[in-house]
Amino acid sequence: MSGMRGGGGGRGGRVSGGDVEAQRAANAAAPKIPDLFRRITGLFAPHRTALIVTITLVLVSAGLGVLPPLLTKQLFDVGLFPPTGGPNVPVLLELVGAMVALLVLSAAMGVWQTWLTANVGNKVMGALRIRLFGHLQAMELAFFTRTKTGVIQSRLQNDVGGVAGVLSNTISSVIGNTVTVIAAFVSMLVLSWQLTVVAVILLPVLVIAQRRVGQVRARIATKTQESLSDMTAITQEALSVSGILLAKSFNQQQAETGRYEKENLNQIDLQVRQQMSGQWFFAMVNIFLSIIPAVIYIVAAYLITGGVDVTAGTIVAFTTVQARLMFPLLGLLRVALDLQTSSALFARIFEYLDLVPAITDRPDAHPVRPDELGAVEFDDVVFRYPDAPADTPATLKGVSFRIEPGQSAAFVGPSGAGKTTIGYLVPRLHDVTSGRVLFAGDDVRELESDSLVRNIGIVSQETYLFHATIAENLRYAKPGATDDELEAAARAANIHETIASFPDGYDTVVGERGYRLSGGEKQRIAIARVLLKDPAVLILDEATSALDTLSERVVQQALDAASRGRTTIAVAHRLSTVVDADVIFVIAGGRLVEQGTHDDLIAAGGMYSDLYAQQA
Ligand code: ADP
Repeated sequence: MSGMRGGGGGRGGRVSGGDVEAQRAANAAAPKIPDLFRRITGLFAPHRTALIVTITLVLVSAGLGVLPPLLTKQLFDVGLFPPTGGPNVPVLLELVGAMVALLVLSAAMGVWQTWLTANVGNKVMGALRIRLFGHLQAMELAFFTRTKTGVIQSRLQNDVGGVAGVLSNTISSVIGNTVTVIAAFVSMLVLSWQLTVVAVILLPVLVIAQRRVGQVRARIATKTQESLSDMTAITQEALSVSGILLAKSFNQQQAETGRYEKENLNQIDLQVRQQMSGQWFFAMVNIFLSIIPAVIYIVAAYLITGGVDVTAGTIVAFTTVQARLMFPLLGLLRVALDLQTSSALFARIFEYLDLVPAITDRPDAHPVRPDELGAVEFDDVVFRYPDAPADTPATLKGVSFRIEPGQSAAFVGPSGAGKTTIGYLVPRLHDVTSGRVLFAGDDVRELESDSLVRNIGIVSQETYLFHATIAENLRYAKPGATDDELEAAARAANIHETIASFPDGYDTVVGERGYRLSGGEKQRIAIARVLLKDPAVLILDEATSALDTLSERVVQQALDAASRGRTTIAVAHRLSTVVDADVIFVIAGGRLVEQGTHDDLIAAGGMYSDLYAQQA
């Protein structure tokens, strides 16, 4: 159902309502998802085994990592410069052999770890994306009419994508670097605890500085994602077929480019700020780590003077290890920053996952009952659009009517009267503000939505066909339909001959939104699709109003065939199409003002007869 008229459809999201929603969502996204950390770790729960293996590997690697510096010390103090005599070559060779073996072993373990973490990271992200997509499918129609499509897409693509990148890099980086840092730290302690104290005394300062930088970055990250989401929205609107058509026909290409450029400049600024934030911090860390060896030589001199046993081997090994500590440590600090950044993205993702669908099945919902199948009744229905400003009058102001099973009913009246809205309330695309909508005798809010929707078919003015073959589009209504069933439906909808005349027949791919077919052809395919569904109630929302008279006639024949044997609710623009309806309801200003057959209403000489006279 894409017939959102009156500012709906492709570009409708650009109205201020969409911006307000985007802004509200974006502002709320940044902070305060209370148990964010617990929820992020919760995502990893299904991969417990892989994570345990990974951690074990980390610990083993860490254990092995302690050895090389100790071997270096031995290499110096026993192999190269033994207390007595020249270099001890056999010992030297043994030690070198051991070092190479260790290197090979840790390299192999490193590859294994990367494999595990890449798997976990990507699976977690994939699962999150699927969950988000599924959750969005459950959201009510109003959510999509008030939120720009691009903004929604951006959460799925940019936000989940952003986290995915960070995460798969992060796991292996955290693990690899933790191993190195622990190993280096332990070997430093073993070599000389005094020198270790000197080397790490300033670390707490770094950690505090890192936290601050992280907070700044997370803020920038939130803004970056907001801007990305705006950019996606602009791209999605402007580069869609309808967007391009609109821009070209109003000569607005430059304005569109300007809009995109403005958002891009903002994005560039944010990216630069994000990349620059923390550069001073890293420079400081770098300087600090590079100065340490000098300090160590001096402290070592004092220690030796003070009678502490510090050999040349100890100092060489210690400074080597300390230098090797530098990059992993920087890496870990960076990762900590990345994690803070990605927590802002996670907050945005969870915010969407936490949206509560406004329309859901009650726990005691039941399927549609067969007794009165096809009956549709409105009982004093008042309806106000959830996002309509508070001071505007309700769209429907107490509408009551009953359509009997198998009847064909038509709704006519001035534009904006509320006819389409009535069509939306039957399949419960919105919930009434007060009153009741009854389907087969039950309030639609008591019915299982699956069952309700299965019994309703909708053909609207703006037909939506997927970029797929005609057969695939038809089978959307009935996945298991045989070729014969497709053909029967297409024949009934007056479109079989046309499809058969295409070189690829039913395998013809229809362009994005069916652009390669004429409006009437698309409409008839949509009718064939609804026929395959075979619903008890058919809603036709100005199904023929966009067509020329000739196509209208062909489509109208198809619709007449489709209407047979079921309740039909037609929202009609041209009164010529409703003359034969069993009952005509005239809606004006959100109220039912007249009802009856064509002849009754003409005889009554009210609004209908006026409208009819105008159109005739
Ligand atoms: P009709 O089909 O009779 O032309 P509609 O049912 O489409 O009329 O619309 C009735 C009124 O509801 C109009 O005034 C329209 O502006 C308003 N309306 C339609 N859709 C929305 C929406 N999503 N949010 C707020 N108001 C809406």
